[in-house]
Amino acid sequence: DAGISVKEFADRMGVKVQDVIMRLMSMGVMTTITEPVDPDAALLVAEQMGIAVEIQQEEPEDAILGETEDSEEDLVPRPPVVTIMGHTDHGKTSLLDAIRKSKVAEGEAGGITQHIGAYTVSINGRDITFLDTPGHEAFTAMRARGAKATDVVVLVVAADDGVMPQTLEAINHAKAADVPIVVALNKIDKPEANPDRVKQALAEHGLSPEEWGGSTIYCPVSAKKRTGLDHLLEMILLQADVLDLKANPNRRARGLVIESRLDRGRGIVASVLVQKGTLRVGNFLVLGAQVGRVRSLNDAYGHKVNEVTPSHSAEVVGLDGMPQPGDVFVAVEDEKLGRQVAMARQARHRAAQLLQTKKVTLEDLYSQI
Ligand code: GDP
Ligand code: MG
Repeated sequence: DAGISVKEFADRMGVKVQDVIMRLMSMGVMTTITEPVDPDAALLVAEQMGIAVEIQQEEPEDAILGETEDSEEDLVPRPPVVTIMGHTDHGKTSLLDAIRKSKVAEGEAGGITQHIGAYTVSINGRDITFLDTPGHEAFTAMRARGAKATDVVVLVVAADDGVMPQTLEAINHAKAADVPIVVALNKIDKPEANPDRVKQALAEHGLSPEEWGGSTIYCPVSAKKRTGLDHLLEMILLQADVLDLKANPNRRARGLVIESRLDRGRGIVASVLVQKGTLRVGNFLVLGAQVGRVRSLNDAYGHKVNEVTPSHSAEVVGLDGMPQPGDVFVAVEDEKLGRQVAMARQARHRAAQLLQTKKVTLEDLYSQI
């Protein structure tokens, strides 16, 4: 795909084609009306002229990296990635802790010792990864940046309380992101718990239980007594099976930054979730517009690991700059390629900012009329 011609580009911007050609020439780009316009140069021209350009669907870096779609035979099943949401005090943190403590990956006697923004547990030989920064902000922050980190939302609702504002907010977030919900009816140990009342209320918001002919799975749990956890995990896997989650582990690693922080001894540390490919020690990375090289990888069990496969997370050490939660990372063959990708992302970012500036200007104009 050669993209649009210089003429078409000028037409779409509503400027004279001769003007565009002059500016391109002054940048050292020799071209004619009919030739395809160089995207980077076009962006600069638009910037110079104060015109916002809608960015194409294709990531500029895909062309640089020569990225292709995975073919069906390269895909293998991957674990589900789960986010826990729900109203304050309904037990999100307690549930994450209970699962973390009772179902650590098989053979991990020491348990999870590090908070790295996500952890993986095993049940019946299958993995589930939980993002352990609960709350809607992280979820929306990721979504706002176009990142989809979650396959399944576990909606925690206290059985002694019911549907509250943040419960509805969580339902709306999950719906908007097209992510299925599994309901954890928490605090079932309490004498005041009234699961049927909660189901009734949630059914009114589209979460009709399976036993009432609906399609939502409900799991009574007690984070406090640690009951119902296995059932909840099994139901998450059942939900995941319906989604048929797959990824190609044999390609360049790609995924999301979940958290980042400055560590006294180790410098900038980022927790990442691998979504495709396999991340390895020694890989060059672009995270957002930051470049780095993986010096070491640590899992939530405090172990150094050599590689991280899809739907798993790790802490990356060896970065020069601080990436942001929701930033996309990609592994590249060498630093030069990394810098190219980072530059493409910066250009894209600038264009997006320009777009916003333009919008503000327009609004200002209209408000003065
Ligand atoms: P969050 O705000 O959603 O993260 O809720 P927390 O996990 O902080 O829990 C809020 C309160 O509910 C705490 O006092 C917990 O001890 C309590 N709690 C959480 N789960 C249970 C449960 O299963 N049973 C009972 N009885 N109390 C619980
Ligand atoms: Mg909490």
